[in-house]
This record gives sequence, structure tokens and C-alpha cells, in this order.
Amino acid sequence: MRRLHAGDRDHRLGPPPAQSRAEPRRGPGGAGGQPLPVHGDLRRAGSVIAAVRPRSLDEAVRHLGEDPALVPTAGCTDLMVRGPEALHRMDRVIDLLGVPELRGIREVEGGIEIGSTTSFSEIRRSAAVRAAFPILAEAATMVGGWQIQNRATLGGNMANASPAGDSLPVLLALDAVVVVAGAQGLREIPYADFHIGYRRTALRPGEIVARVRLPYLPAGAFQAFRKVGTREAQAISKVVVALAGRIEEGRIAELRLAAGSVAAMPVRLRAAEEAVRGQAPGPETADLAGREAAREVTPIDDVRSTADYRRFALERVVRRMVMGIAG
Ligand SMILES: Cc1cc2nc3c(=O)[nH]c(=O)nc-3n(C[C@H](O)[C@H](O)[C@H](O)COP(=O)(O)OP(=O)(O)OC[C@H]3O[C@@H](n4cnc5c(N)ncnc54)[C@H](O)[C@@H]3O)c2cc1C
Repeated sequence: MRRLHAGDRDHRLGPPPAQSRAEPRRGPGGAGGQPLPVHGDLRRAGSVIAAVRPRSLDEAVRHLGEDPALVPTAGCTDLMVRGPEALHRMDRVIDLLGVPELRGIREVEGGIEIGSTTSFSEIRRSAAVRAAFPILAEAATMVGGWQIQNRATLGGNMANASPAGDSLPVLLALDAVVVVAGAQGLREIPYADFHIGYRRTALRPGEIVARVRLPYLPAGAFQAFRKVGTREAQAISKVVVALAGRIEEGRIAELRLAAGSVAAMPVRLRAAEEAVRGQAPGPETADLAGREAAREVTPIDDVRSTADYRRFALERVVRRMVMGIAG
């Protein structure tokens, strides 16, 4: 257990202190190697965050089994921008960046697996991801800017469970499987069942996201991604859409269509998927998909957009993406 004092300059964001050089460094673009960032000015004078830094998955789940209230931390790009009240409540954390089993991208039979603490920079640079799942690489390039992509992790994006998280519709469209770890061992959750409400996930107390498995798409499958924001970088989505599927004998045999920022959680657009199954791609099918998609979502007005605009944008984006299937 390492105690990080809010007023301790050595543990603030900034160049790593001399002592951290002794710790294992991650490759370029990795989210690790930096001391746990603690914003002293956001915390009451004299308050502390107690941090455990496990060096293996076994050690991590043992800590979580003993104290399920430990808050997992990865890149901290979401955690550290929460308000002072939330930070005050966060007094015990478990830093996952030193756990090797949670890092990296590897090919497995039938797909690839991405460790939860893999950063978006690593994902966008990965040849394996770009070859098989270009829409995930594309989404990774749209998360914040380069500095955020260097620290932000896929597991953090998932567990943070913002309805606007850019990778989340992609994982839905790609039919990902989440491998979670806890004191009881590993279990798998289809990604379609991972988000269960506004910022709520199927993780049980003391469980963490260990990795995500992406099954390869069949040869000739199509996939597409589109984010609508205020600008190209550093913009949270007003609407974000991903799709994947396949054509057989000139008709849409399967379409998985998913969207973010249009409901309390990222959603599959099942009515639109169903409506176009068996249809030939083209303008009428694209119109139908757009209309159904706009009908089935429940967007809200907030600081970034209005419900009306989101519905309008979703219809247009889905229509254009489904038109793109036609080639
Ligand atoms: C300036 C800025 C711009 C941003 N732009 C975007 C954007 O364009 N698109 C976008 O989607 N997001 C954006 N974000 C949000 C953020 O960068 C992402 O959600 C990021 O992926 C979070 O990952 P992290 O590793 O930093 O998570 P952290 O902040 O470390 O953790 C986030 C949450 O996940 C939990 N957690 C982390 N890892 C695990 C795990 N393995 N298992 C269980 N729980 C875990 C933590 O307890 C916490 O609740 C932005 C953030 C900032 C500050």
C-alpha cells in the first residue's frame, strides 16, 4: 500500500520524479510508467489517497477480493476530471497500469484480444487492429487529442460507461466479448450485455475489465464508423455510430448497427437492423435504416447538443453509412 499525499509534489502530474525511473516503463504511447497523477489542489489539505499497485492479475484480484470498494484506476483521464466532491470520496484506489496481464494486443484463435489498460495510441497504431478492425483504430484516433490517447485506455472508456464513449458503439457493432476478472476468477460477458443503464455496467463489486475479445469478421464483411462532434479533435460526440455486417447474394444478410450519445447508454439499433435485413443496399434501404434508427433512440438535450439535432444527425449519418454499403 503506497500513500499518496495530495500536497506531495513528487506525485503530481508532470515530469516523472527520479524515483519513478526505477519502475518498469511502458513502450511509446503506453498508458503506464507515470506516477499516479494526484491533483493536490482538488483535495482538502492533508487528505490522502491510498493506492495499491499490484504487479500481477492474481495480486490485483486478491486486493479487490479483500476490499471491493477499491477504485480501479488506469489512465485517469476520466477520474481526474471528476469534480472535487467525487475525488474527496475516492480515498482508496488500485492502480492497474502495473499489471502485465491487462496490457497489449494479441492475436488469438478466431480474433484478437485487447488488454483493458491498452491505450488508444497503442490501438490506433496496431497493425493487427488496423487490418481486421479499422473502425476501432479510427475511433481511437478520435478520442480527445494525442495527449489523451497516450493515457486513455480501452478498459477505462468501457468502465466509465459514458453514453458518449467513442469506442463503445464500435465494440457493440463488432460483437465484442468482455473478459472480467474478480476474486471468483474470470468470466465472460457479451458486450451487448455489458452496459445496463446510465453509467452502469454488468461488473460486480470487486470485478475489473481484464480484456476484450474481438471475433474476426467473415471475408468480405463491411464495417464503418462515424463521429459527429463540434470539431475533429477534442470534441465529445454529439452522435457516434458504428456498423458491421455482410452481404449475401446482393442482399444485407446481417447488419449490426450501434450508436452512442443518443440514449442513456450506448445501444444497438435493433429495429433498424431488422428493417433492412434481406434488403438490397441502396437509397431506399438507407432511408429506411435512417428512419428506423431515429425512431428507436431516446436522446436528450444537454450542453453539447439537443435531442432534436441528435435524432436528425443520427438519421442522416445512418442513411449515409448504409448507402456506403452499396459501394
Ligand atoms: C480532454 C479530454 C478529452 C476526452 N475526449 C474523449 C473523446 O473524444 N471520446 C471519448 O470516448 N472519451 C473522451 N474522454 C474521456 C476519457 O479519456 C476516456 O473515457 C478514457 O478511455 C478513459 O480511460 P482511462 O484509462 O483514463 O480511465 P480512468 O480515468 O482511469 O477510469 C475511468 C473509469 O473506469 C474505471 N476503470 C478503469 N479501468 C478499469 C478496468 N480495467 N476495470 C474496471 N474499471 C476500470 C475507473 O474506476 C473509472 O471509474 C476525454 C477525456 C478528457 C480529459
